[in-house]
Amino acid sequence: MSERPRQTSEAGWSPRTKIGKLVQEGKITSLEEILKQGKRILEPEIIDVLLPKLQERVLGISLVQKQTDAGERSRFKAVVAIGEEGYIGLGLGKANQVRTAISKAVVQAKLSVIPVRRGCGSWECRCNLPHSLPFKIEGKCGSVSVEMHPGPRGLGLVGGEVVKTILGVTGIRDCWTRTFGSTNTLTSIACAIYNALRDSNTMTTATD
Ligand SMILES: [Zn+2]
Repeated sequence: MSERPRQTSEAGWSPRTKIGKLVQEGKITSLEEILKQGKRILEPEIIDVLLPKLQERVLGISLVQKQTDAGERSRFKAVVAIGEEGYIGLGLGKANQVRTAISKAVVQAKLSVIPVRRGCGSWECRCNLPHSLPFKIEGKCGSVSVEMHPGPRGLGLVGGEVVKTILGVTGIRDCWTRTFGSTNTLTSIACAIYNALRDSNTMTTATD
């Protein structure tokens, strides 16, 4: 069973992109340097090097059945979130085997990693530590929308399991969340949360 890529696959890595080479040579040392230039990450090893503390969370695995000419075909679908303090990535993978579906989702999640804007926007707290969100954020995906509000220190993560798991790996500890719409669709919830976190990176506040 060697289908699963090693957690850190940069050993023996031969970069195929210019950014990959610069990262391997140590000339680029942060993800922000790459994203600021509007460049996309095309090799998961770049993330392995830049974010060595990434944690992986399988949010869900489901069996997808599809009718084809040859009959019914079933595949596994895995949704995976990866993150570390201040970063999140989300990926989806489909394959005939669970293990392969997860590996594919992990690769996609690495290629989607973005910084997460943290702060303390809670009027009850105002501690200026990055334990929560700087302000209320919202995201949509399909029929699902999600709202996340800054909370005071010690509150914990209030909301559904998916929200708690995703925020948990980003280092956000205190937050109120609400989900609206078809909240039984895991992929849409995860994607709405990701969109909210992504959009908050480009929002400006009075204090900026
Ligand atoms: Zn605070």
